[in-house]
Amino acid sequence: LSFNSSEHGCGLGCSCLKVRLSMRSHESRVKNEIESVSCTMPDEMARPLIRGRGGGGSRHLEASVSEPGAPVIGILGTGDFSRSLARRLVASGYQVVVGSRAPKRSGALFPEEAEVTSQMEAANQADLVFVAVFPEHHSTLVELKPALAGKTLVDVSNGLQIKHDGPSHAEQLADLFPESFVVKGFNTISAWTLQMGPRDGSRQVFLCSDSHKAKSSVMQLCRRMGFVPVDMGLLSSSLEIENLPLYLFPSWRIPILCTLFLFIFFYLYNFTRDILQPYIKSEKSVFYKMPIETVNVTLPSVALVMLALVYLPGLFAAFLQLWWGTKYNRFPNWLDRWLTGRKQFGLCSFLCAVLHAIYSLCLPLRKSAHFKLLNAAFKQVKAGTEDAWVSEDVWRMELYLSVGIMALGLLSLLAVTSLPSVANTVNWREFSFIQSTLGYCALSMATLHTILFGWDRAFKSDRYPFYMPPTFLLVLILPLVVLLGRLALFVPCMAGRLRQIRRGWERSRHIRFTLPDDDCHNGLEDDKSDEH
Ligand code: NAP
Repeated sequence: LSFNSSEHGCGLGCSCLKVRLSMRSHESRVKNEIESVSCTMPDEMARPLIRGRGGGGSRHLEASVSEPGAPVIGILGTGDFSRSLARRLVASGYQVVVGSRAPKRSGALFPEEAEVTSQMEAANQADLVFVAVFPEHHSTLVELKPALAGKTLVDVSNGLQIKHDGPSHAEQLADLFPESFVVKGFNTISAWTLQMGPRDGSRQVFLCSDSHKAKSSVMQLCRRMGFVPVDMGLLSSSLEIENLPLYLFPSWRIPILCTLFLFIFFYLYNFTRDILQPYIKSEKSVFYKMPIETVNVTLPSVALVMLALVYLPGLFAAFLQLWWGTKYNRFPNWLDRWLTGRKQFGLCSFLCAVLHAIYSLCLPLRKSAHFKLLNAAFKQVKAGTEDAWVSEDVWRMELYLSVGIMALGLLSLLAVTSLPSVANTVNWREFSFIQSTLGYCALSMATLHTILFGWDRAFKSDRYPFYMPPTFLLVLILPLVVLLGRLALFVPCMAGRLRQIRRGWERSRHIRFTLPDDDCHNGLEDDKSDEH
């Protein structure tokens, strides 16, 4: 805050002076409090609330807009992270003291309200200290040990590569400062997010510590800065928190690889069938088809197979549970991973479907399409036929386009509802209705779109160059298997048994009433006979 004494507009006899404060903070509550300050001592008003820069020596925060009893926050280090953090803390109404090896050099980079001083002085003044230096320099701070004893240290450091074995940087810091309480956190928040405020970036701050009190105070600070603290437990979780910003789309790796693999496979298949075969057989060059037409036949193939792969693991799981007669057996790891990655498989499928739609819209814009149309017209004139209308083709195209548009619409709905912000607004039943029921509708529509596209071409021998079946036939195998599998689960005996199993029924332990003269235990027994 800076007070401009030349602007109070009242003479000496005025008993109430309106103070104009230039606010750096956006906290309206704090602003209101200060704007309504009334006083009777003009001399006091002439004095700035906080001394400006250049006063020499250590600059102390003389008056603060922070709540009484709020901790003084120290930051060790004056780098990018420290500067952004200092700004956000000051904006949140905290007193901030920054510790630097060279306070004179770094002071100008910080907001006026923050005090920049030596590391020792900052450690002495602060109640809670952020360690914003790289972990390899933590050991240079050991001389601050006595000053930091009994205080909370927040380790914001990130590693350079993912570590699977400890100790983490936070645990190493805790070993260096055994008398302080180390909290790991804020490492997943970038300096940019801190500077722009939580609205512009991730709001979650993952925290862990062995000291409940220290963690609670950092959580409180987090909330006041506008972030959402996420309690990750004890300091042993710090390795996981340190690894978080280093992962590169971990849940996307397999779906993306799968999409790429399918794309390459179908592209090569279409290339061999539609481009290479005519060239080898009759030296007909149609290589111009490679960038658009071949890609446009490949994309829907990938989209449909990927969509089928979204629903296939659910069927595996259901049939395994029916086979085991229980839901309490663990699925194999590969199935577990597949089940948790279904959203990513679905989004990859959606991407391919959208690209297919865009490519299809561009098809008539190509020069090759113009020339083909003209050639067909000339041929028709030459042959003397006037009407080129083929009703069957017309109907086929109208139908497959309509069904394809519907499939894309449903896929878009699935993609939108998979966003966490949207998914959080629907309850579990609504979510499973959209993702499961509408998902199967999308799969059925997309399958029908492909069947209508193929029509009767599967039954024509000239459609099997090099004995290679048309692409749509290959593509249809998996979706049809999934849809038939789903239909099988609708059969009442299967559906009923699956429902029982999912409510906790177990084949090997179900309760059975027996006749009193049987070898029984009060009419109840464990049925081991059908254990497998
Ligand atoms: P930086 O710009 O390089 O700043 C590091 C600061 O450490 C220096 O300005 C220096 O300040 C201080 N320091 C203290 N002892 C030091 C020594 N012996 N050698 C070198 N410097 C020493 O780094 P940064 O980007 O602010 O990152 C600081 C920490 O925050 C790192 O652990 C990083 O992993 C973490 N972090 C950064 C970001 C980000 O977006 N930048 C995000 C999350 C976490 P003085 O010279 O004034 O002492």
